[in-house]
Amino acid sequence: RMIKRQMQCRSDLGRLNAPFLAIYESLIPAEEEKAKQKQLLTLLERLVCTEWPKARLYLYGSCANSFGVSKSDIDVCLAIEDMDVNKSEILLRLADIFQSDNLQNVQALTRARVPIVKLMDPVTGLSCDICINNVLAVVNTKLLRDYAHIDARLRQLAFIVKHWAKSRGVNETYQGTLSSYAYVIMCIHFLQQRRPAILPCLQEMETTFSVTVEGVECAFFDQIEKLRDFGSCNNETISQLVWAFFNYWAYRHDYANSVISIRTGNVISKQGKDWTRRVGNDRHLICIEDPFQVSHDLGRVVDKYSIKVLREEFERAADIMQYDPNPCGKLFEPY
Ligand code: ATP
Ligand code: MG
Repeated sequence: RMIKRQMQCRSDLGRLNAPFLAIYESLIPAEEEKAKQKQLLTLLERLVCTEWPKARLYLYGSCANSFGVSKSDIDVCLAIEDMDVNKSEILLRLADIFQSDNLQNVQALTRARVPIVKLMDPVTGLSCDICINNVLAVVNTKLLRDYAHIDARLRQLAFIVKHWAKSRGVNETYQGTLSSYAYVIMCIHFLQQRRPAILPCLQEMETTFSVTVEGVECAFFDQIEKLRDFGSCNNETISQLVWAFFNYWAYRHDYANSVISIRTGNVISKQGKDWTRRVGNDRHLICIEDPFQVSHDLGRVVDKYSIKVLREEFERAADIMQYDPNPCGKLFEPY
């Protein structure tokens, strides 16, 4: 199935840049939305500190990694040292505090894989998920944000891919398709692989930032201002990259043998990671290595049914990018 068709890139891609850039721009959140996020964070900080004066709140996920489209929910991490109390108790206490301050739809999900409290703030209209001491998520958020600041094409590509995935219903981890986080990693990997490369591999460079979280050393180069020209030898435009991204996942990626790894800046072998067979619920049908938790396959949510759905969607997108005279219409058509 791999390389079913070698596609020769269509010749009129240039005229598609303007429409893709217009879609990208329409998805960028307005400044006013950023202000509302700050406002909500300030309110939550005030409420949390009355109970735990030393606690701190961090934004993570798409509101902090620069891959957030407008009207996204915000993800907040509560960092609290006092871990004598267990997470469930803290979450339930948080839910109480929020409820008595007129926040709405307050729910403590203590049994979720990542336990959270959900709420909606009627003043800003924003919804928010709060987790506890999920420091790895705060650090991977910084890694993604640093990559976004190296070359503008990453943010453009990731917005378009996320918009496509949401429109086509393949951004639903509970249905076996991929998280936004996984799609952004796929975009970073793809831009590391272009020749000349559009993105470097920050984890293979000199360490300028390092923290150890839950026994995992997270180290990478974060002096991004020194990398401003990194991708300038590569002139590919957004329409070429969208075309090539879908072509890669439709026809070029070796699903049977390869793992994508932004940690190494390369494709690595499934064999080497012992990801060749199903272990428990991890089927490893599409392998995306987490940059820090390297034993963690972001594709593990994908099952034998949803892999088919995903690959058909990649092929559909690749074919539209190749043959459709007006791909921007068809590509994002609701499924
Ligand atoms: P959206 O705009 O769709 O909300 P998002 O960037 O917030 O996108 P999510 O997939 O909701 O992405 O994940 C939020 C954050 O949670 C990610 O930025 C990442 O820090 C963390 N995260 C999500 N999934 C994982 C995972 N499987 N392993 C480690 N961290 C994860
Ligand atoms: Mg989110």
